[in-house]
Amino acid sequence: MAVLTIRLWPDEVLRRKADPVETVDDEVCRVLNDMAETMYRQNGIGLAAPQVGISRRMITLDVPSEDPEEDPPEHLSPAPPPGSGLLLVVNPRITAREGKLVVTEGCLSFPGLEIDIQRSERITVEYLDETGTPRTKVCDGLLAVCFQHEIDHLDGVVFTDRVGLVRRRLALRDYEKMRREEA
Ligand SMILES: [Zn+2]
Repeated sequence: MAVLTIRLWPDEVLRRKADPVETVDDEVCRVLNDMAETMYRQNGIGLAAPQVGISRRMITLDVPSEDPEEDPPEHLSPAPPPGSGLLLVVNPRITAREGKLVVTEGCLSFPGLEIDIQRSERITVEYLDETGTPRTKVCDGLLAVCFQHEIDHLDGVVFTDRVGLVRRRLALRDYEKMRREEA
């Protein structure tokens, strides 16, 4: 496994529409595992392949449990992991949406920037897993938000596109300022 380099805004690969994966082969699995390692190293909960310069429709997610109270009691052995666990996702497609919620989102390609974004609260996603098996997942809350954010990346859409013009300008101005200060 290898840690990949995160592409930062305004890298042009973030604006490209990613190509579908034709076959889930060893190469695809290797990229997914490298993406997962990169995501964990950056303390991210989601990563899309274009964010590591690969314009193909692959994402990784591992969303923590939203409410620590919901974590399984310790006496259950083996305890199921909290949150979604690692998901390796190929060619995802949202087939149903329901409700709305607003969540403060960050993005590994915009380090330091956080924006409140309105998303669908509950979605159905169809995708292939790392074995090439078709999966259908109904999810809500943070996992649903994370799926929507990462699938946007596959379409060349970034989270600043999901707010109005004024808030977008302010957010990009903040981001550029942070980047200058870091340089
Ligand atoms: Zn992102």
